[in-house]
Amino acid sequence: MLDVNKIRADFPILSTKIYGKPLIYLDNGATTQKPRCVVDEIECVYTTLNANVHRGVHTLSQQATDAMEATREAVRSFINAPSTKEIIFTKGTTESINLVAHSFCQQFCSEGDEIIISEMEHHANIVSWQLQETIKGIKLRVIPINERGELKLDEFEKLINPKTKLVSIMHVSNVLGTVNPIEEIIAIAHKHDIPVLIDGAQSIQHQTIDVQQLDCDFFVFSSHKIYGPNGIGVLYGKEKWLDRMPPYQGGGEMIGHVSFKGTTFNELPFKFEAGTPDYVGIIALRKALEYVKNIGLDSIKQYEDELLQYCTAELMKIDGMKIYGTAVRKSSAISFLVNDIHHYDMGMLLDKMGIAVRTGHHCAQPLMEALGIEGTVRASVAFYNTRDEIDAFVAAVRRVVSMF
Ligand code: PLP
Repeated sequence: MLDVNKIRADFPILSTKIYGKPLIYLDNGATTQKPRCVVDEIECVYTTLNANVHRGVHTLSQQATDAMEATREAVRSFINAPSTKEIIFTKGTTESINLVAHSFCQQFCSEGDEIIISEMEHHANIVSWQLQETIKGIKLRVIPINERGELKLDEFEKLINPKTKLVSIMHVSNVLGTVNPIEEIIAIAHKHDIPVLIDGAQSIQHQTIDVQQLDCDFFVFSSHKIYGPNGIGVLYGKEKWLDRMPPYQGGGEMIGHVSFKGTTFNELPFKFEAGTPDYVGIIALRKALEYVKNIGLDSIKQYEDELLQYCTAELMKIDGMKIYGTAVRKSSAISFLVNDIHHYDMGMLLDKMGIAVRTGHHCAQPLMEALGIEGTVRASVAFYNTRDEIDAFVAAVRRVVSMF
């Protein structure tokens, strides 16, 4: 059992008031709040450790480098990657996918080759590949979804052909909450020797990830969605792929030797880390991972799943409620509309009652098109949310419905 009151005390922002009402933060799919230990660590680095990493012989620079590399090890251990060489720091999930799209396609794709994604993907996992349609002449193939918002796996296998070069799939949908059967997807793809990228932006914070057990070829996520600082992301990639992929960006740190006759590149993971990284954020990310580990992802999953089921059941009691995404396996997010109330109106009125939810297309316009809607209201829970907050949220939705 989680001690939610104790946990809530670790998150200063949760005692904020909005329009004089206690904040009920249900926009965790967009970003998570930060525990005091992460905020303190950022201050601590700037006040005691600040020096550019990897470049200096002086003590501070070495200490900052060691602290940054300690996070790389913490990330490796968190997702059970075999080696820190396979952990690359980026700006976020978006940059991690762009890196793979650019570099993988440059090395392994020719005109007419195909990448498989799905109908429910976030724009980060659509547009990154569309850019490669223009640059490399690749083609996107799309796995459709069924009426519950689950991937049609039988259709997936039919899309695979000799031109398929990679499958890139989200683990958990940021809109529907669907937990995709990535174990099966990876097994099917590997049967055909096709590598798989998993977008873990909405799974890393809700369940244990073991990249060796999954046997995925790439796994990407953002620090800010797992209680860490903004502007930091992770790309895990199997060494066998990363080694053969060319650098994504040029600059300091990613080189071996530079001359006008030709430049050689650094070894992994530095080959993909051009320029000064946000080492302050990276160092603080370790605190976030430790915080989550201390609570325990199994307990987090169990608590959040119960909260999600409770919230779903309570919302369903409202007349005119339609929930988008009724998959058997769901995590964290509930998207809904009530009657013909516009999602913006619902979101704005909930805000006046202190409740933060997301409205709109959630960076998934092709999914909205498939659902035949323009947008939804989305509530997404984290382990610091409570049943009382869910009760207040559902009562507020009822109040909005009664106003129309
Ligand atoms: N993929 C999914 C499933 C997401 O939910 C998000 C963000 O909401 C992203 C990718 C992009 O993440 P970021 O903006 O942190 O790069």
